[in-house]
Amino acid sequence: MSQAERQTMEMDIVCVGFGPAAAGFLTTLAKAPGLESRVAPGMPLQVVCYERADDTGFGVSGVVTRARGIRASLPGLDPTQIPLAAPVVEERLVYLLDPVGASRRSRGHRWLDALLSPFARPLSAIELPYIPPFLRKDGGLVLSIGQFLQFVSAEVMGSGTVQIWPGTPVAGPLIEDARVVGVRLADQGVDRAGRPESNYLPGMDVRAELTVVGDGPVGAVGQQLNERPPREWALGMKMVIDLAEGTNLPPGTVLHTLGFPEPEIFGFLYAHAERVASVGIFVPSWFRSPARTGYRYLQRFLMHPYIWRLVAGGRMRSWGAKSLQESGRRGEPALVGEGYARIGEGSGSTNPLAGSGVDEAWTTGAQLAEGVSELLKAGQPFTRQNLENAYVARRRASWVDQEARIAGRARDGFHKGFFRGLAGMALAGFSGGRLGMGGRPQPIPAPVPDEASRWPEIPYDGQLLVSHQDALLMGGKVQAPPGFADHVRFLNPAVCAKCATRLCSQMCSGQAIAAGDANGAPSFDREKCVHCGACLWNCPDGVLAFEAGAGGLHSNEN
Ligand SMILES: Cc1cc2nc3c(=O)[nH]c(=O)nc-3n(C[C@H](O)[C@H](O)[C@H](O)COP(=O)(O)OP(=O)(O)OC[C@H]3O[C@@H](n4cnc5c(N)ncnc54)[C@H](O)[C@@H]3O)c2cc1C
Ligand code: SF4
Ligand code: SF4
Repeated sequence: MSQAERQTMEMDIVCVGFGPAAAGFLTTLAKAPGLESRVAPGMPLQVVCYERADDTGFGVSGVVTRARGIRASLPGLDPTQIPLAAPVVEERLVYLLDPVGASRRSRGHRWLDALLSPFARPLSAIELPYIPPFLRKDGGLVLSIGQFLQFVSAEVMGSGTVQIWPGTPVAGPLIEDARVVGVRLADQGVDRAGRPESNYLPGMDVRAELTVVGDGPVGAVGQQLNERPPREWALGMKMVIDLAEGTNLPPGTVLHTLGFPEPEIFGFLYAHAERVASVGIFVPSWFRSPARTGYRYLQRFLMHPYIWRLVAGGRMRSWGAKSLQESGRRGEPALVGEGYARIGEGSGSTNPLAGSGVDEAWTTGAQLAEGVSELLKAGQPFTRQNLENAYVARRRASWVDQEARIAGRARDGFHKGFFRGLAGMALAGFSGGRLGMGGRPQPIPAPVPDEASRWPEIPYDGQLLVSHQDALLMGGKVQAPPGFADHVRFLNPAVCAKCATRLCSQMCSGQAIAAGDANGAPSFDREKCVHCGACLWNCPDGVLAFEAGAGGLHSNEN
Protein backbone atom coordinates (compact mmCIF):
# COMPACT_ATOMS: atom_id res chain seq x y z
CA MET A 1 0.00 0.00 0.00
CA SER A 2 1.47 3.37 -0.92
CA GLN A 3 1.81 6.43 1.31
CA ALA A 4 -0.95 8.11 -0.76
CA GLU A 5 -3.52 5.64 0.55
CA ARG A 6 -3.16 6.74 4.13
CA GLN A 7 -6.65 7.52 5.45
CA THR A 8 -7.52 10.96 6.78
CA MET A 9 -10.25 11.95 9.22
CA GLU A 10 -11.37 15.44 10.23
CA MET A 11 -12.32 16.18 13.84
CA ASP A 12 -12.69 19.34 15.88
CA ILE A 13 -10.43 18.16 18.70
CA VAL A 14 -8.07 15.21 18.95
CA CYS A 15 -6.70 14.22 22.32
CA VAL A 16 -3.62 12.03 22.89
CA GLY A 17 -3.64 9.68 25.89
CA PHE A 18 -6.38 8.93 28.39
CA GLY A 19 -4.83 9.55 31.80
CA PRO A 20 -6.16 11.79 34.59
CA ALA A 21 -5.35 14.93 32.57
CA ALA A 22 -7.39 13.89 29.54
CA ALA A 23 -10.11 12.58 31.87
CA GLY A 24 -10.39 16.06 33.43
CA PHE A 25 -10.41 17.66 29.97
CA LEU A 26 -13.04 15.37 28.47
CA THR A 27 -15.28 15.36 31.56
CA THR A 28 -15.39 19.15 31.59
CA LEU A 29 -15.84 19.48 27.84
CA ALA A 30 -18.59 16.86 27.76
CA LYS A 31 -20.55 18.91 30.29
CA ALA A 32 -20.25 22.21 28.40
CA PRO A 33 -23.64 22.88 26.82
CA GLY A 34 -24.30 23.71 23.18
CA LEU A 35 -20.85 23.34 21.64
CA GLU A 36 -21.19 23.05 17.90
CA SER A 37 -18.78 21.39 15.50
CA ARG A 38 -16.76 23.53 13.14
CA VAL A 39 -15.81 20.64 10.83
CA ALA A 40 -19.39 19.38 10.62
CA PRO A 41 -21.60 22.47 11.02
CA GLY A 42 -24.93 21.73 12.67
CA MET A 43 -23.50 18.70 14.49
CA PRO A 44 -22.26 18.58 18.09
CA LEU A 45 -18.54 19.07 18.69
CA GLN A 46 -16.50 16.16 17.27
CA VAL A 47 -13.93 15.01 19.83
CA VAL A 48 -11.80 11.86 19.74
CA CYS A 49 -9.24 10.62 22.27
CA TYR A 50 -6.64 7.93 21.48
CA GLU A 51 -5.12 5.80 24.23
CA ARG A 52 -2.21 3.45 23.60
CA ALA A 53 -3.03 0.89 26.30
CA ASP A 54 -5.45 -1.94 25.56
CA ASP A 55 -8.29 -0.40 27.52
CA THR A 56 -9.13 2.79 29.36
CA GLY A 57 -7.86 2.63 32.88
CA PHE A 58 -4.82 0.38 32.55
CA GLY A 59 -2.72 3.00 34.32
CA VAL A 60 -0.27 2.00 37.02
CA SER A 61 -1.14 3.85 40.10
CA GLY A 62 -2.95 3.30 43.35
CA VAL A 63 -3.01 6.86 44.52
CA VAL A 64 -3.98 9.16 47.30
CA THR A 65 -5.20 12.54 46.18
CA ARG A 66 -6.73 15.58 47.78
CA ALA A 67 -9.10 15.48 44.81
CA ARG A 68 -9.83 19.19 44.93
CA GLY A 69 -10.02 19.53 41.15
CA ILE A 70 -11.70 16.15 40.70
CA ARG A 71 -14.43 17.03 43.20
CA ALA A 72 -14.94 20.44 41.60
CA SER A 73 -15.55 18.75 38.24
CA LEU A 74 -17.63 15.90 39.69
CA PRO A 75 -19.72 17.46 42.45
CA GLY A 76 -21.52 14.79 44.41
CA LEU A 77 -18.86 12.22 43.58
CA ASP A 78 -19.66 9.15 45.63
CA PRO A 79 -16.56 7.00 46.28
CA THR A 80 -18.77 3.97 46.97
CA GLN A 81 -19.66 3.98 43.24
CA ILE A 82 -16.01 3.46 42.26
CA PRO A 83 -14.39 0.08 42.98
CA LEU A 84 -11.45 0.32 45.38
CA ALA A 85 -12.09 3.99 46.26
CA ALA A 86 -12.16 5.19 49.87
CA PRO A 87 -12.04 8.55 51.67
CA VAL A 88 -8.78 9.13 53.56
CA VAL A 89 -9.38 8.23 57.20
CA GLU A 90 -5.88 8.16 58.61
CA GLU A 91 -2.48 9.37 57.45
CA ARG A 92 0.92 8.54 58.90
CA LEU A 93 4.47 9.54 58.04
CA VAL A 94 6.89 6.80 59.03
CA TYR A 95 10.67 6.76 59.23
CA LEU A 96 11.98 3.27 58.47
CA LEU A 97 15.29 2.18 59.97
CA ASP A 98 17.42 -0.40 58.22
CA PRO A 99 16.87 -3.74 59.96
CA VAL A 100 19.05 -5.58 57.41
CA GLY A 101 22.23 -3.50 57.57
CA ALA A 102 22.44 -3.33 53.76
CA SER A 103 21.07 0.12 53.03
CA ARG A 104 23.68 2.72 51.92
CA ARG A 105 23.66 5.12 54.85
CA SER A 106 26.30 7.68 55.68
CA ARG A 107 28.16 7.34 58.97
CA GLY A 108 26.07 10.17 60.43
CA HIS A 109 22.90 8.46 59.29
CA ARG A 110 23.91 5.19 60.98
CA TRP A 111 24.72 7.11 64.13
CA LEU A 112 21.27 8.68 64.09
CA ASP A 113 19.66 5.28 63.56
CA ALA A 114 21.56 3.87 66.53
CA LEU A 115 20.25 6.74 68.64
CA LEU A 116 16.68 6.18 67.46
CA SER A 117 16.65 2.40 67.60
CA PRO A 118 15.43 2.07 71.23
CA PHE A 119 12.32 4.04 70.22
CA ALA A 120 11.90 2.09 66.98
CA ARG A 121 11.47 -1.40 68.42
CA PRO A 122 10.08 -3.88 67.56
CA LEU A 123 9.29 -2.84 63.97
CA SER A 124 12.43 -0.81 63.16
CA ALA A 125 10.20 2.16 62.47
CA ILE A 126 9.13 5.44 64.02
CA GLU A 127 5.77 7.00 63.28
CA LEU A 128 6.56 10.70 63.15
CA PRO A 129 4.34 12.90 65.31
CA TYR A 130 3.94 15.54 62.61
CA ILE A 131 3.11 15.52 58.88
CA PRO A 132 4.00 18.75 57.07
CA PRO A 133 0.88 20.43 55.68
CA PHE A 134 2.18 20.32 52.12
CA LEU A 135 2.25 16.51 52.28
CA ARG A 136 -1.09 15.93 53.99
CA LYS A 137 -4.05 14.61 52.03
CA ASP A 138 -6.77 15.67 54.49
CA GLY A 139 -10.22 15.13 53.10
CA GLY A 140 -8.80 13.30 50.11
CA LEU A 141 -9.46 9.97 48.45
CA VAL A 142 -7.56 6.75 48.00
CA LEU A 143 -8.21 5.64 44.43
CA SER A 144 -7.23 2.94 42.02
CA ILE A 145 -6.46 5.06 38.98
CA GLY A 146 -7.39 2.12 36.75
CA GLN A 147 -10.85 1.84 38.29
CA PHE A 148 -11.35 5.59 38.51
CA LEU A 149 -10.52 6.11 34.84
CA GLN A 150 -12.86 3.32 33.80
CA PHE A 151 -15.60 5.03 35.79
CA VAL A 152 -14.84 8.38 34.15
CA SER A 153 -14.57 6.94 30.63
CA ALA A 154 -18.03 5.35 31.00
CA GLU A 155 -19.45 8.73 32.10
CA VAL A 156 -17.73 10.63 29.30
CA MET A 157 -18.62 8.16 26.54
CA GLY A 158 -22.19 8.14 27.86
CA SER A 159 -22.41 11.87 27.17
CA GLY A 160 -22.24 11.13 23.43
CA THR A 161 -19.83 14.05 22.79
CA VAL A 162 -16.57 12.15 23.03
CA GLN A 163 -15.16 8.95 21.53
CA ILE A 164 -12.30 7.22 23.35
CA TRP A 165 -10.28 4.66 21.37
CA PRO A 166 -7.99 2.46 23.46
CA GLY A 167 -5.36 0.20 21.85
CA THR A 168 -4.48 3.03 19.48
CA PRO A 169 -0.98 4.51 19.85
CA VAL A 170 -0.39 7.92 18.34
CA ALA A 171 2.92 8.06 16.47
CA GLY A 172 3.37 11.83 16.48
CA PRO A 173 1.96 15.25 15.72
CA LEU A 174 1.17 16.43 12.21
CA ILE A 175 2.93 19.76 11.71
CA GLU A 176 2.30 22.05 8.75
CA ASP A 177 3.68 25.59 8.47
CA ALA A 178 4.77 25.53 12.13
CA ARG A 179 1.25 24.66 13.23
CA VAL A 180 0.07 21.37 14.75
CA VAL A 181 -2.83 20.23 12.57
CA GLY A 182 -3.58 16.88 14.21
CA VAL A 183 -1.86 13.56 14.80
CA ARG A 184 -0.77 10.46 12.90
CA LEU A 185 -1.69 7.09 14.38
CA ALA A 186 0.94 4.34 14.50
CA ASP A 187 1.31 2.14 11.42
CA GLN A 188 0.11 -1.44 11.69
CA GLY A 189 1.11 -4.52 9.71
CA VAL A 190 4.80 -3.68 10.00
CA ASP A 191 7.75 -5.72 11.24
CA ARG A 192 9.67 -4.91 14.41
CA ALA A 193 11.78 -2.37 12.53
CA GLY A 194 8.68 -0.66 11.16
CA ARG A 195 8.98 -2.07 7.60
CA PRO A 196 5.61 -2.70 5.87
CA GLU A 197 4.49 -6.30 5.59
CA SER A 198 1.71 -7.86 3.49
CA ASN A 199 -1.05 -6.60 5.81
CA TYR A 200 0.36 -3.07 6.03
CA LEU A 201 -2.13 -0.47 7.25
CA PRO A 202 -0.70 3.01 7.43
CA GLY A 203 -1.72 4.87 10.58
CA MET A 204 -4.56 7.27 9.89
CA ASP A 205 -4.01 11.03 9.88
CA VAL A 206 -6.49 12.63 12.25
CA ARG A 207 -6.69 16.31 11.41
CA ALA A 208 -8.13 18.65 14.00
CA GLU A 209 -8.17 22.34 14.74
CA LEU A 210 -6.94 21.57 18.27
CA THR A 211 -4.60 18.77 19.40
CA VAL A 212 -4.62 18.14 23.14
CA VAL A 213 -1.40 16.51 24.33
CA GLY A 214 -2.11 14.51 27.49
CA ASP A 215 0.27 11.62 26.90
CA GLY A 216 2.05 11.75 30.25
CA PRO A 217 5.74 12.03 31.07
CA VAL A 218 7.20 9.97 28.19
CA GLY A 219 4.51 10.18 25.48
CA ALA A 220 5.58 10.17 21.85
CA VAL A 221 3.71 13.34 20.91
CA GLY A 222 4.89 15.26 23.95
CA GLN A 223 8.49 14.23 23.33
CA GLN A 224 8.35 15.46 19.74
CA LEU A 225 7.00 18.83 20.83
CA ASN A 226 9.48 19.23 23.71
CA GLU A 227 12.25 21.70 23.07
CA ARG A 228 14.11 20.89 26.28
CA PRO A 229 13.50 17.53 27.93
CA PRO A 230 13.08 17.59 31.70
CA ARG A 231 16.00 16.36 33.81
CA GLU A 232 14.47 15.07 37.04
CA TRP A 233 12.53 11.82 37.03
CA ALA A 234 11.48 9.00 39.24
CA LEU A 235 10.44 5.47 38.59
CA GLY A 236 7.25 4.64 40.46
CA MET A 237 6.76 0.94 41.05
CA LYS A 238 3.77 -0.52 42.79
CA MET A 239 2.07 -3.74 43.73
CA VAL A 240 -1.64 -4.14 44.39
CA ILE A 241 -2.19 -6.73 47.10
CA ASP A 242 -5.20 -8.72 48.23
CA LEU A 243 -4.64 -8.55 51.97
CA ALA A 244 -4.97 -11.60 54.16
CA GLU A 245 -8.22 -12.15 55.98
CA GLY A 246 -8.16 -10.51 59.38
CA THR A 247 -5.71 -7.75 58.36
CA ASN A 248 -6.62 -4.72 60.36
CA LEU A 249 -6.10 -1.91 57.88
CA PRO A 250 -9.14 0.37 57.53
CA PRO A 251 -9.85 1.52 53.94
CA GLY A 252 -8.52 5.03 53.51
CA THR A 253 -5.39 4.45 55.61
CA VAL A 254 -2.41 6.22 54.06
CA LEU A 255 1.22 5.59 54.98
CA HIS A 256 4.10 7.64 53.59
CA THR A 257 7.54 6.25 54.36
CA LEU A 258 11.14 7.35 54.10
CA GLY A 259 14.48 5.81 54.97
CA PHE A 260 14.26 2.28 53.53
CA PRO A 261 15.20 0.31 51.43
CA GLU A 262 17.57 3.18 50.63
CA PRO A 263 17.31 6.61 52.18
CA GLU A 264 16.46 8.23 48.84
CA ILE A 265 13.57 5.86 48.14
CA PHE A 266 10.22 7.11 49.39
CA GLY A 267 7.52 4.50 49.84
CA PHE A 268 3.78 4.31 50.38
CA LEU A 269 0.94 2.06 51.38
CA TYR A 270 -2.64 3.02 50.61
CA ALA A 271 -5.51 0.87 51.87
CA HIS A 272 -8.38 0.63 49.37
CA ALA A 273 -11.86 -0.65 49.99
CA GLU A 274 -12.44 -4.40 49.64
CA ARG A 275 -9.37 -5.40 51.70
CA VAL A 276 -6.92 -4.36 48.99
CA ALA A 277 -3.78 -2.25 49.38
CA SER A 278 -1.40 -0.52 46.98
CA VAL A 279 2.20 -0.63 48.13
CA GLY A 280 5.00 1.06 46.23
CA ILE A 281 8.19 3.03 46.00
CA PHE A 282 9.68 5.88 44.04
CA VAL A 283 13.25 5.50 42.78
CA PRO A 284 14.63 8.93 41.85
CA SER A 285 16.89 9.73 38.91
CA TRP A 286 19.72 10.96 41.14
CA PHE A 287 19.88 7.61 42.85
CA ARG A 288 23.30 5.92 42.83
CA SER A 289 22.30 2.32 43.00
CA PRO A 290 23.85 -1.12 42.84
CA ALA A 291 20.83 -2.47 41.01
CA ARG A 292 18.68 0.17 39.47
CA THR A 293 15.69 -2.06 38.83
CA GLY A 294 12.94 -0.96 41.14
CA TYR A 295 11.56 -4.47 41.45
CA ARG A 296 14.16 -5.73 43.92
CA TYR A 297 13.75 -2.60 45.99
CA LEU A 298 10.01 -2.98 45.99
CA GLN A 299 10.42 -6.48 47.41
CA ARG A 300 12.83 -5.21 50.06
CA PHE A 301 10.39 -2.49 50.97
CA LEU A 302 7.60 -5.08 51.35
CA MET A 303 9.84 -7.12 53.62
CA HIS A 304 10.53 -4.28 56.06
CA PRO A 305 8.94 -5.44 59.36
CA TYR A 306 6.72 -2.35 59.57
CA ILE A 307 5.20 -3.07 56.13
CA TRP A 308 5.42 -6.86 56.27
CA ARG A 309 3.14 -7.17 59.31
CA LEU A 310 0.42 -5.51 57.19
CA VAL A 311 0.88 -7.44 53.95
CA ALA A 312 2.03 -10.87 55.19
CA GLY A 313 -0.31 -13.63 54.01
CA GLY A 314 -1.58 -11.42 51.20
CA ARG A 315 -1.40 -12.13 47.49
CA MET A 316 -0.12 -10.05 44.58
CA ARG A 317 -3.08 -8.95 42.53
CA SER A 318 -1.27 -6.78 40.02
CA TRP A 319 2.02 -5.01 39.63
CA GLY A 320 3.48 -2.32 37.42
CA ALA A 321 5.81 0.60 36.91
CA LYS A 322 5.66 4.03 35.37
CA SER A 323 7.91 7.07 35.05
CA LEU A 324 7.15 10.30 36.84
CA GLN A 325 8.35 13.64 35.54
CA GLU A 326 9.63 15.22 38.74
CA SER A 327 10.98 18.52 37.40
CA GLY A 328 7.57 20.03 38.04
CA ARG A 329 7.20 23.57 36.86
CA ARG A 330 10.94 23.80 36.16
CA GLY A 331 10.53 21.12 33.49
CA GLU A 332 7.52 22.83 31.98
CA PRO A 333 7.54 22.76 28.15
CA ALA A 334 5.60 25.25 26.03
CA LEU A 335 2.05 24.78 27.31
CA VAL A 336 0.48 25.94 24.07
CA GLY A 337 1.40 26.56 20.46
CA GLU A 338 -0.39 27.09 17.18
CA GLY A 339 -3.10 24.41 17.20
CA TYR A 340 -2.09 22.52 20.32
CA ALA A 341 -2.13 22.60 24.12
CA ARG A 342 -0.41 20.42 26.71
CA ILE A 343 -1.98 19.17 29.91
CA GLY A 344 -0.99 16.89 32.79
CA GLU A 345 2.31 15.49 33.90
CA GLY A 346 4.00 15.97 30.53
CA SER A 347 3.22 19.66 30.90
CA GLY A 348 5.07 19.82 34.25
CA SER A 349 1.98 19.71 36.44
CA THR A 350 3.14 17.03 38.93
CA ASN A 351 4.07 18.46 42.30
CA PRO A 352 7.17 16.71 43.72
CA LEU A 353 6.85 18.42 47.10
CA ALA A 354 3.31 17.24 47.74
CA GLY A 355 3.88 13.87 46.03
CA SER A 356 0.81 14.61 43.97
CA GLY A 357 0.12 14.39 40.26
CA VAL A 358 -3.40 13.10 39.65
CA ASP A 359 -5.42 16.06 40.82
CA GLU A 360 -2.99 18.52 39.24
CA ALA A 361 -3.18 16.67 35.91
CA TRP A 362 -6.98 16.50 36.09
CA THR A 363 -7.23 20.20 36.93
CA THR A 364 -5.02 21.32 34.04
CA GLY A 365 -7.27 19.28 31.75
CA ALA A 366 -10.38 20.87 33.21
CA GLN A 367 -8.83 24.34 32.84
CA LEU A 368 -8.07 23.70 29.17
CA ALA A 369 -11.65 22.50 28.59
CA GLU A 370 -13.04 25.68 30.15
CA GLY A 371 -10.79 27.79 27.94
CA VAL A 372 -11.65 25.75 24.85
CA SER A 373 -15.39 26.10 25.34
CA GLU A 374 -14.93 29.82 25.85
CA LEU A 375 -13.05 30.08 22.53
CA LEU A 376 -15.59 27.90 20.74
CA LYS A 377 -18.49 29.98 21.96
CA ALA A 378 -16.71 33.18 20.93
CA GLY A 379 -15.94 31.72 17.49
CA GLN A 380 -12.21 32.18 18.11
CA PRO A 381 -9.53 29.97 16.49
CA PHE A 382 -7.07 27.86 18.53
CA THR A 383 -4.05 30.07 18.02
CA ARG A 384 -1.17 30.16 20.47
CA GLN A 385 -2.25 33.59 21.70
CA ASN A 386 -5.89 32.61 22.19
CA LEU A 387 -4.86 29.45 24.05
CA GLU A 388 -2.51 31.53 26.21
CA ASN A 389 -5.36 33.80 27.17
CA ALA A 390 -7.98 31.12 27.64
CA TYR A 391 -5.95 28.26 29.17
CA VAL A 392 -2.50 29.32 30.36
CA ALA A 393 -3.85 32.40 32.15
CA ARG A 394 -6.35 30.20 34.02
CA ARG A 395 -3.62 27.78 34.99
CA ARG A 396 -1.28 30.53 36.18
CA ALA A 397 -4.01 31.97 38.40
CA SER A 398 -4.89 28.64 39.97
CA TRP A 399 -3.69 26.59 42.93
CA VAL A 400 -1.91 24.20 40.57
CA ASP A 401 0.54 26.85 39.47
CA GLN A 402 0.84 28.53 42.86
CA GLU A 403 1.75 25.22 44.53
CA ALA A 404 4.06 24.27 41.66
CA ARG A 405 6.03 27.47 42.27
CA ILE A 406 6.46 26.54 45.93
CA ALA A 407 7.62 23.05 44.89
CA GLY A 408 10.05 24.36 42.27
CA ARG A 409 13.27 23.78 44.26
CA ALA A 410 11.96 21.04 46.53
CA ARG A 411 14.30 18.30 45.28
CA ASP A 412 17.50 20.32 44.97
CA GLY A 413 19.24 19.24 48.16
CA PHE A 414 19.22 15.52 47.47
CA HIS A 415 22.37 15.43 45.39
CA LYS A 416 24.22 16.46 48.54
CA GLY A 417 22.71 13.73 50.65
CA PHE A 418 19.51 12.51 52.18
CA PHE A 419 19.29 14.94 55.11
CA ARG A 420 20.12 17.95 52.98
CA GLY A 421 17.44 16.76 50.61
CA LEU A 422 14.88 16.61 53.38
CA ALA A 423 16.02 20.02 54.62
CA GLY A 424 15.60 21.36 51.09
CA MET A 425 12.04 20.05 50.93
CA ALA A 426 11.22 21.56 54.31
CA LEU A 427 12.78 24.91 53.37
CA ALA A 428 10.83 25.04 50.10
CA GLY A 429 7.58 23.94 51.76
CA PHE A 430 7.68 26.24 54.78
CA SER A 431 9.07 29.31 52.99
CA GLY A 432 6.44 29.16 50.25
CA GLY A 433 9.17 28.30 47.73
CA ARG A 434 11.39 31.29 48.57
CA LEU A 435 14.19 29.17 50.07
CA GLY A 436 15.90 25.98 48.94
CA MET A 437 19.16 24.09 49.36
CA GLY A 438 20.74 25.29 46.12
CA GLY A 439 22.19 23.16 43.35
CA ARG A 440 20.31 20.59 41.36
CA PRO A 441 20.04 16.81 41.47
CA GLN A 442 22.72 15.11 39.38
CA PRO A 443 21.48 13.29 36.33
CA ILE A 444 21.88 9.49 36.07
CA PRO A 445 24.87 8.56 38.22
CA ALA A 446 26.73 5.32 37.55
CA PRO A 447 25.68 2.26 39.55
CA VAL A 448 27.75 0.80 42.38
CA PRO A 449 28.00 -2.88 41.39
CA ASP A 450 29.90 -4.28 44.38
CA GLU A 451 27.19 -3.29 46.86
CA ALA A 452 24.47 -5.49 45.39
CA SER A 453 25.78 -8.48 47.30
CA ARG A 454 25.05 -6.84 50.64
CA TRP A 455 21.37 -7.53 50.33
CA PRO A 456 20.11 -10.96 51.41
CA GLU A 457 18.29 -13.24 48.97
CA ILE A 458 14.54 -12.71 48.67
CA PRO A 459 12.73 -15.76 50.13
CA TYR A 460 10.13 -16.40 47.41
CA ASP A 461 6.75 -17.47 48.75
CA GLY A 462 4.89 -17.86 45.45
CA GLN A 463 2.20 -15.32 46.27
CA LEU A 464 3.72 -12.01 47.30
CA LEU A 465 7.45 -12.49 46.92
CA VAL A 466 7.94 -13.94 43.47
CA SER A 467 10.63 -13.70 40.81
CA HIS A 468 10.56 -10.78 38.43
CA GLN A 469 9.51 -13.10 35.60
CA ASP A 470 6.66 -14.55 37.64
CA ALA A 471 5.52 -11.04 38.54
CA LEU A 472 5.17 -10.29 34.83
CA LEU A 473 2.83 -13.26 34.51
CA MET A 474 0.91 -12.91 37.77
CA GLY A 475 0.59 -9.15 37.99
CA GLY A 476 -1.44 -8.34 34.91
CA LYS A 477 -0.12 -10.00 31.78
CA VAL A 478 2.01 -7.97 29.38
CA GLN A 479 0.30 -7.60 26.01
CA ALA A 480 2.36 -7.00 22.90
CA PRO A 481 0.00 -7.01 19.94
CA PRO A 482 1.77 -8.06 16.74
CA GLY A 483 2.01 -5.81 13.71
CA PHE A 484 3.47 -2.75 15.44
CA ALA A 485 7.08 -1.62 15.29
CA ASP A 486 9.20 -1.96 18.43
CA HIS A 487 8.69 1.14 20.56
CA VAL A 488 12.15 0.88 22.19
CA ARG A 489 14.97 1.41 19.71
CA PHE A 490 18.73 1.79 20.07
CA LEU A 491 19.68 4.69 17.88
CA ASN A 492 23.44 4.30 17.85
CA PRO A 493 24.85 0.77 18.39
CA ALA A 494 28.40 2.17 18.21
CA VAL A 495 27.73 4.25 21.33
CA CYS A 496 26.12 1.23 23.05
CA ALA A 497 29.18 -0.85 22.22
CA LYS A 498 31.26 1.51 24.36
CA CYS A 499 28.72 1.67 27.18
CA ALA A 500 30.18 -0.09 30.20
CA THR A 501 27.16 0.11 32.53
CA ARG A 502 24.32 -0.77 30.14
CA LEU A 503 22.03 1.00 32.55
CA CYS A 504 19.04 0.61 30.23
CA SER A 505 19.27 -3.13 30.75
CA GLN A 506 20.20 -3.06 34.43
CA MET A 507 17.23 -0.95 35.44
CA CYS A 508 14.61 -2.24 33.01
CA SER A 509 11.39 -2.67 34.99
CA GLY A 510 10.22 -5.66 32.96
CA GLN A 511 13.56 -7.32 32.13
CA ALA A 512 12.67 -6.50 28.54
CA ILE A 513 16.13 -5.18 27.68
CA ALA A 514 18.94 -7.71 27.75
CA ALA A 515 22.52 -6.43 27.87
CA GLY A 516 23.24 -8.29 24.61
CA ASP A 517 26.50 -8.54 22.78
CA ALA A 518 29.13 -6.22 24.28
CA ASN A 519 30.08 -5.13 20.75
CA GLY A 520 26.65 -3.85 19.82
CA ALA A 521 23.30 -2.65 21.08
CA PRO A 522 21.28 -4.44 23.79
CA SER A 523 18.27 -6.46 22.65
CA PHE A 524 14.64 -5.58 23.32
CA ASP A 525 11.78 -8.03 23.95
CA ARG A 526 8.44 -6.31 23.54
CA GLU A 527 6.62 -9.19 25.21
CA LYS A 528 8.08 -8.14 28.55
CA CYS A 529 7.89 -4.36 28.33
CA VAL A 530 5.58 -2.71 30.85
CA HIS A 531 5.89 0.69 29.10
CA CYS A 532 7.29 2.42 32.17
CA GLY A 533 9.47 4.59 29.93
CA ALA A 534 12.33 4.65 32.43
CA CYS A 535 14.88 3.37 29.89
CA LEU A 536 14.43 6.63 28.02
CA TRP A 537 15.71 8.74 30.89
CA ASN A 538 18.17 6.17 32.20
CA CYS A 539 20.33 6.09 29.06
CA PRO A 540 23.17 8.49 29.92
CA ASP A 541 24.04 9.01 26.25
CA GLY A 542 20.55 9.73 25.00
CA VAL A 543 20.72 7.06 22.29
CA LEU A 544 17.62 5.13 23.30
CA ALA A 545 14.30 6.04 21.71
CA PHE A 546 11.00 5.35 23.47
CA GLU A 547 8.27 5.73 20.87
CA ALA A 548 4.56 5.07 20.52
CA GLY A 549 3.72 1.45 21.23
CA ALA A 550 0.64 -0.67 21.83
CA GLY A 551 0.07 -3.04 24.72
CA GLY A 552 1.90 -3.04 28.01
CA LEU A 553 0.60 -4.33 31.30
CA HIS A 554 -2.91 -5.61 30.88
CA SER A 555 -4.58 -4.98 34.18
CA ASN A 556 -7.26 -2.56 35.20
CA GLU A 557 -6.64 -3.27 38.84
CA ASN A 558 -3.73 -0.88 39.01
C1 LIG B 1 3.64 4.14 41.39
C2 LIG B 1 3.02 5.51 41.28
C3 LIG B 1 2.34 6.04 42.35
C4 LIG B 1 1.76 7.32 42.28
N1 LIG B 1 1.11 7.79 43.36
C5 LIG B 1 0.47 8.98 43.27
C6 LIG B 1 -0.31 9.44 44.35
O1 LIG B 1 -0.42 8.80 45.39
N2 LIG B 1 -0.97 10.61 44.20
C7 LIG B 1 -0.91 11.33 43.05
O2 LIG B 1 -1.57 12.37 42.95
N3 LIG B 1 -0.15 10.93 42.01
C8 LIG B 1 0.54 9.77 42.08
N4 LIG B 1 1.29 9.33 41.02
C9 LIG B 1 1.45 10.21 39.84
C10 LIG B 1 0.25 10.16 38.92
O3 LIG B 1 -0.04 8.82 38.57
C11 LIG B 1 0.55 10.99 37.65
O4 LIG B 1 0.96 12.27 38.02
C12 LIG B 1 -0.69 11.09 36.77
O5 LIG B 1 -1.09 9.81 36.34
C13 LIG B 1 -0.42 11.98 35.57
O6 LIG B 1 -1.57 11.99 34.76
P1 LIG B 1 -1.48 12.33 33.19
O7 LIG B 1 -2.83 12.17 32.64
O8 LIG B 1 -0.78 13.62 33.00
O9 LIG B 1 -0.49 11.23 32.58
P2 LIG B 1 -0.57 9.65 32.57
O10 LIG B 1 -1.26 9.13 33.77
O11 LIG B 1 0.82 9.21 32.30
O12 LIG B 1 -1.49 9.32 31.31
C14 LIG B 1 -1.03 9.47 30.01
C15 LIG B 1 -1.76 8.46 29.13
O13 LIG B 1 -1.32 8.65 27.79
C16 LIG B 1 -1.12 7.39 27.21
N5 LIG B 1 -0.17 7.55 26.10
C17 LIG B 1 1.15 7.78 26.18
N6 LIG B 1 1.68 7.86 24.98
C18 LIG B 1 0.67 7.67 24.10
C19 LIG B 1 0.61 7.63 22.68
N7 LIG B 1 1.69 7.81 21.93
N8 LIG B 1 -0.59 7.40 22.09
C20 LIG B 1 -1.71 7.22 22.86
N9 LIG B 1 -1.69 7.23 24.20
C21 LIG B 1 -0.52 7.48 24.80
C22 LIG B 1 -0.60 6.52 28.33
O14 LIG B 1 -0.80 5.14 28.08
C23 LIG B 1 -1.43 7.02 29.51
O15 LIG B 1 -2.61 6.31 29.69
C24 LIG B 1 1.89 8.08 41.08
C25 LIG B 1 2.57 7.54 39.98
C26 LIG B 1 3.13 6.26 40.07
C27 LIG B 1 3.85 5.72 38.88
S1 SF4 C 1 21.01 2.48 25.16
FE1 SF4 C 1 22.22 3.83 26.48
S2 SF4 C 1 22.38 2.75 28.44
FE2 SF4 C 1 21.73 1.25 26.91
S3 SF4 C 1 23.63 0.31 26.20
FE3 SF4 C 1 23.16 1.98 24.79
S4 SF4 C 1 24.28 3.74 25.62
FE4 SF4 C 1 24.20 2.20 27.25
S1 SF4 D 1 12.03 -1.56 28.08
FE1 SF4 D 1 9.94 -1.28 28.77
S2 SF4 D 1 9.88 -2.11 30.87
FE2 SF4 D 1 12.05 -1.82 30.31
S3 SF4 D 1 12.53 0.22 31.15
FE3 SF4 D 1 11.96 0.49 28.98
S4 SF4 D 1 9.76 0.94 29.04
FE4 SF4 D 1 10.30 0.07 31.07
